[in-house]
Amino acid sequence: MDSIICEEFRKPIKPKSRGSIKFQNNDPLKIVLANEGFLQDPDDLESVKNIFKVYIKGIAEQLAAIDPKYQLVTPSVSQIDDDEQLEEYIKQNFGHNHHQQSSLRMAPLNKGGVVDSKGRVHGVKNLIVADASIIPFTVDGNTGAPAFMIGLTIANQIIESSIGSSK
Ligand SMILES: Cc1cc2nc3c(=O)[nH]c(=O)nc-3n(C[C@H](O)[C@H](O)[C@H](O)COP(=O)(O)OP(=O)(O)OC[C@H]3O[C@@H](n4cnc5c(N)ncnc54)[C@H](O)[C@@H]3O)c2cc1C
Repeated sequence: MDSIICEEFRKPIKPKSRGSIKFQNNDPLKIVLANEGFLQDPDDLESVKNIFKVYIKGIAEQLAAIDPKYQLVTPSVSQIDDDEQLEEYIKQNFGHNHHQQSSLRMAPLNKGGVVDSKGRVHGVKNLIVADASIIPFTVDGNTGAPAFMIGLTIANQIIESSIGSSK
């Protein structure tokens, strides 16, 4: 029998949940404790549930209308229709897709930021970060191009400021 198995699904692009990173001690080589905080905000869970209720179910229905052999196998339609089972399915199958960002968010310190608009770490002299970790808000697409753009912009700023200070 032909079947549709939904193993991967798009995560909410603008999640409200917030993760955290904790240093264990002063040793910079000691791995930090990271909690990505997936689905901690109930609105995020609702968004993902709606992906199944609206899109996945809708696509399956359209395919079945073309050829009844196509049936949604996992999650099943009955799982999708049962809120508790759907939540369980989502929690068991949720994961990231290698586009971590914003762990050192560019924002004012009192708004949870770590670096200022030039990538300088708040409260630390001469420490500049220029990578995907400073992205202020989750980008809607892949993170490679924003990382290049951040690297280029901050490198140019450093060059300009060193030229300015040598005059
Ligand atoms: C499997 C995978 C697939 C991806 N696919 C895509 C894609 O198709 N398109 C896209 O746009 N993005 C993709 N990304 C995301 C993209 O690669 C990253 O967002 C981007 O590389 C982030 O750039 P970065 O400079 O912030 O960090 P990184 O590219 O991770 O660079 C960090 C660098 O620091 C080095 N480093 C770490 N610790 C130390 C240390 N202590 N001392 C010295 N050096 C150190 C590392 O070796 C590394 O070279 C993918 C990521 C992964 C993991």
